[in-house]
Amino acid sequence: MSQNVEQAAHERASVGEALVQIDGLKTYYEDGGLLSSHPVKAVDGVSFEIDRGETLGLVGESGCGKTTLGRTLVQLESATDGEILFDGTDITELRGDDLKEWRRRTQMVFQDPDSSLNNRMTIGEIVREPLDVHAVGTPRERRARVRELLEVVGLREEHYYRYPHQFSGGQRQRIGIARALALEPEFIVLDEPVSALDVSVQAQILNLLEDLQKEFDLTYLFIAHDLSVVRHICDRVAVMYLGHVMEIGATEEMFRDPANPYTQSLLSAIPEPDPSHDTDRITLRGTPPSPRDPPEGCPFSTRCPMKVRPSAYRDLDGEVWERIQIFREVLRQRMNAEMGLKDRIRDLLGRDTRFSDIDEIREELFGDVTLPDSVRGHIEEAIDYVADADEAAAHQYLDEQFGSTCDEDPPIQHDVGGGRLSLCHRHLDDHANPEDVHDELNVFTGESE
Ligand code: SF4
Repeated sequence: MSQNVEQAAHERASVGEALVQIDGLKTYYEDGGLLSSHPVKAVDGVSFEIDRGETLGLVGESGCGKTTLGRTLVQLESATDGEILFDGTDITELRGDDLKEWRRRTQMVFQDPDSSLNNRMTIGEIVREPLDVHAVGTPRERRARVRELLEVVGLREEHYYRYPHQFSGGQRQRIGIARALALEPEFIVLDEPVSALDVSVQAQILNLLEDLQKEFDLTYLFIAHDLSVVRHICDRVAVMYLGHVMEIGATEEMFRDPANPYTQSLLSAIPEPDPSHDTDRITLRGTPPSPRDPPEGCPFSTRCPMKVRPSAYRDLDGEVWERIQIFREVLRQRMNAEMGLKDRIRDLLGRDTRFSDIDEIREELFGDVTLPDSVRGHIEEAIDYVADADEAAAHQYLDEQFGSTCDEDPPIQHDVGGGRLSLCHRHLDDHANPEDVHDELNVFTGESE
């Protein structure tokens, strides 16, 4: 565990005792296809702790690895590397009876109550199933336990013999929660437990989860994309991007003053309930890169509005800088050949455009900006490489001219106070340049769609 992570854990020592400690966790997938030498890096070196009795939120865009991380913590997926200590035991090493015994202590509640419940089983059978698998008590005791659980989650005894399709979405999620509680677990991964439900029902399920946590001293990992729900229910939040935790810390402090550029972008997209309170929104271009082909340096470097610039370009117009970054990212992804050059540009610019050759690409990317002399020659050189069908050389050339530490060096986590950690070079004195950051942020500021 890095020094910063240890220090932050020490600062939080008064908060509680860690139940789950993960260190350098990686979950990669090989698809066995032609590209199998490039595994999908769904979780790519994650370290944090979850205290007993706390709710840790896990947020991030779709595909950032949060569900894979949750599934790995309950061993529905196998870790490729790293440690998961549960109450001091590395569960990635457990096998056979030890693993089966440990599984009683942890459960998962799934996003979609419809697909997670077997429609051919009665509610009683569904909730009783984990008790049967683990041969807990006598059949009579198991039936009594199921009736008790139905009551605990706000259902009635007579529901025992009904089927899932006879229930509403909220009730079906209550059934899923009852099943998760059957073996008296200590830790539950809640994977978007309310996102498939109506808003009024969401509040009821969230209240139920909070009540159950107090009653049974449960520890939650709460995976969600709805940040207002996370703010309501979580003690701390971990923000994920492309398999990495970009920032982790106490919920209120993070929402009030996010430290990491990605957290700032994510939080700026939350609608402001008071329209008179005018806050800037940061609109990120394009979509995250493929986890099969993540950037070499910072995972957020291909979209980051605060990316560190080489000193020669600190004063370069923000719009020009932005177009150069798009050109570089287009070429980087082109080398991976998952999407055509023209399609990539359309995606990154957010425009529906047509290109037939490199001249059109030049016009589309740079036609409406004035390139200073210090930049024009480099762009022309790269375009010449592309015209010669040598996109790898164009990419390398632009890297040499415009690359920075954000492209080349993976950042480490920095303690930004109060036990909060942020993965960003900007926390180093050398790169903490507020004017530089401010200019670049303005480029990305505007109404989101
Ligand atoms: S390290 Fe660079 S690219 Fe990554 S979040 Fe910080 S400023 Fe942005």
